[in-house]
Amino acid sequence: MGNAKTKKAKSKNQTAKTTNSQVPQKQAEKTSPRTLTPEIGAALFEDARSRLEDVFKALDIHADAQARLMQPGLSLQVSIPVRMDDGSLKAFPAWRVHYDTSLGPAKGGVRFHPDVNQHEVTTLSFWMAVKCAVVGLPYGGGKGGIQVDAKALSSLERERLARGYIRAIADIMGPDRDIPAPDVNTDATVMGWMIDEYEQIVRAKVPAAITGKPLPLGGSPGRVAATGRGALKVLDLWAEREKRQPEETTVAVQGFGNAAYHFARLVSERGYRIVAVSDTSGACYHADGLDIEAVKQAKSNSGKVTDSQAGKAMTGDELLALDVNVLALAALENQIHCDNVHEVKAGAILEIANGPLTSDADQTLAKRNVPVLPDVLANTGGVIVSYFEWLQNRAGEKWSEAQVNERLDALLSGEAGKVLTRAGTEDITYRQAAYRQGIERIAAAIMARGNCQDCR
Ligand code: NAD
Repeated sequence: MGNAKTKKAKSKNQTAKTTNSQVPQKQAEKTSPRTLTPEIGAALFEDARSRLEDVFKALDIHADAQARLMQPGLSLQVSIPVRMDDGSLKAFPAWRVHYDTSLGPAKGGVRFHPDVNQHEVTTLSFWMAVKCAVVGLPYGGGKGGIQVDAKALSSLERERLARGYIRAIADIMGPDRDIPAPDVNTDATVMGWMIDEYEQIVRAKVPAAITGKPLPLGGSPGRVAATGRGALKVLDLWAEREKRQPEETTVAVQGFGNAAYHFARLVSERGYRIVAVSDTSGACYHADGLDIEAVKQAKSNSGKVTDSQAGKAMTGDELLALDVNVLALAALENQIHCDNVHEVKAGAILEIANGPLTSDADQTLAKRNVPVLPDVLANTGGVIVSYFEWLQNRAGEKWSEAQVNERLDALLSGEAGKVLTRAGTEDITYRQAAYRQGIERIAAAIMARGNCQDCR
């Protein structure tokens, strides 16, 4: 079932305007909390691998490459002791995984979250491998995570934790081995602590060892907004092919963190109508379009989008069920699953978070001809600008924000354009097209390294 077909059918049926009266009346009790148990984490990885098997079936991938791609190349578990402000000592479990490094050094963020576990980090590193390959970056896939409620720590405790993490993984990282970056609950400040710790360990200035750094330490202009900007570019490319004007397109965004806020801001500036955004407190909705900066102000004041006067409060579940043209998922994984996929009325899904749809939800949406712009394409803006940061650090250059944005747009236009075209030509979903583009490239690199590399 082709997405090229799916999109057209859906777009015609989709109403461009969503009014207050169309807000679903069903009151869900509260926003679904995320509890990623180890069992769900294991299922997440199996889910991810099942998509690989689909690609193996469809393409002529050598058995050697298949075998290599079914499991991570390196997986490190560590315990990070942190002296707390009250004098006690706590040890936090943490992981760093290199899924595949055939195309280049491992690249991927570090997540601070109470639910982090080995399966989740492994899955995220697998997605990083695919996404770097989809957009043609010279990187493999990596990811890291610390099982911690970062919001319960003081700033000094967070800094000790970040530095402890780098001491624990220093042997397997570096600009040619593995380059960490920000992810959920980590940001430029945390990357600043991390690069400082790494440079003290190696006794050299190596800014290219970490990306997403503060500007004075070699960070790149445009990095903070890059994931949102990249997602906007993918949305624009899709809308253009659909002959859909931004002004007639309503968008609801799950999440209001780094990726979601910048996406909402840029998309709104571009003329799309953002009717709702959410965070863990619930959602804020306005049929005529939200003033994103006003929501941001409320979020900065109280930490909750539901406190904003820019719109009316609704639950997170109600947001997921809105009758909008595009539902952008920019919070966490597993948000649409077999139990709530039937509530989804959006005309298309844009995955800004990693893995926000389970594969059964994905299949249900495909059967309903709802196009999904997949995470491994739609959220690559961050890693692309991380790559630009790494290039600048290695060359000792400083690019302007305009240069960064221009190169991001050009790279994505080319690579995302290929994915969208392939979906139409091969009559497959955008996810299948993206996975084929990425896995083909990784498999080619594995094979180019020699068939006998494992029997040396
Ligand atoms: P973040 O920590 O800045 O924001 C996460 C947001 O999700 C917060 O606003 C939080 O309140 C919200 N949230 C959590 N659970 C929710 C729920 N059940 N309903 C509604 N909102 C909920 O993280 P981020 O950096 O913006 O990352 C978000 C997603 O995007 C993650 O999946 C991440 O891996 C992915 N991603 C981020 C980047 C990046 O550069 N920031 C790059 C690629 C992918």
